[in-house]
Amino acid sequence: MVRFLLGLVFLFCYLQGEKRALVTGGAGFLGSHLCEKLLDSGIEVICVDNLSSGKKENIEHLLKNPRFFFLEHDIVQPLDSGLELDFIFNLACLASPPVYQKDPLQTFRTSIWGAYNLLELAKKTGAKILQASTSEVYGEPLIHPQNESYWGNVNPIGIRSCYDEGKRAAESLFFNYHRLFKIPVKVARIFNTYGPRLDPLDGRVVSNFFSQAMQNLPLTIYGDGFQTRSFCYVEDTIEGLVQLMFTDNTITGPINIGNPEEITILELAKKIKEVSHSVSQVLLLPLPYDDPSKRKPDISKAKTLLNWSPRYALDEGLKKTYLYLKTKQ
Ligand code: UDP
Repeated sequence: MVRFLLGLVFLFCYLQGEKRALVTGGAGFLGSHLCEKLLDSGIEVICVDNLSSGKKENIEHLLKNPRFFFLEHDIVQPLDSGLELDFIFNLACLASPPVYQKDPLQTFRTSIWGAYNLLELAKKTGAKILQASTSEVYGEPLIHPQNESYWGNVNPIGIRSCYDEGKRAAESLFFNYHRLFKIPVKVARIFNTYGPRLDPLDGRVVSNFFSQAMQNLPLTIYGDGFQTRSFCYVEDTIEGLVQLMFTDNTITGPINIGNPEEITILELAKKIKEVSHSVSQVLLLPLPYDDPSKRKPDISKAKTLLNWSPRYALDEGLKKTYLYLKTKQ
């Protein structure tokens, strides 16, 4: 019945000549912003999510839109919407280290079987397909900043490997499908992203620090806090993904999508404390195993091929995130 109604709605839109995208992980943090952006660009969206970390409330405002349809589905299982598709964005996967490590087998299955099932769907429909890969493929990097030709330094048996190696294997699948079946693929290596709709309880550093700062609780710094990350505001990341998808078929990536503004975790704590007007102290806790010591994207390729670079400085993005979180208190 659901598929029948979906078919009717989309038949109507198809007759209007509109493009159609399938977004997996569409009810998640990144996915929900992507769905919005695509709808705003006049593209119909089928949002697929198993709601393991994605939330209905992230897409509640889109459900009324007749060009948006939600399908609860786990991409570990084969997927066939029975519809013509122009674009597939594969964003489905748990992404927070403490969360993905809780169910490493599911993380691995989602990364690999999910990629396989969606590539099969792309093969069947002729849709362009984009993989949300990750800076985690660089592991503990031996070059800095990281460019796309660097093969990475990943511990294949460590606690992060379900995610790192899962995403690396997915990249391999994407390029093999491209070579074997000439499928137009796009691989984006996404660096740490933050902004509105980041789950305050997901255990990642920006979520934790804001939650703690806004309650004046100690900010939990893992290790000495001198490890670095480079944080990109969500709007910029989404813009990069869409630009990549809209390139011609000769551009496959991988392409780094991230903000090269590198910062230590200690400095980040200070900034979040300030922006939240908080009196929190800091609490030093042990560094998780295999936690990368540094991370910064080289975005020359994105600049040249996509004419893309982030617009939001960290200070501005943190302010916007704070204002959003305040409305949720
Ligand atoms: N981190 C921290 N305190 C926290 C959560 C994370 O110091 O409460 C550190 C973590 O050890 C890592 C960095 O912040 O060095 C980024 O962690 P996150 O889990 O956000 O993402 P990652 O880049 O490691 O995937």
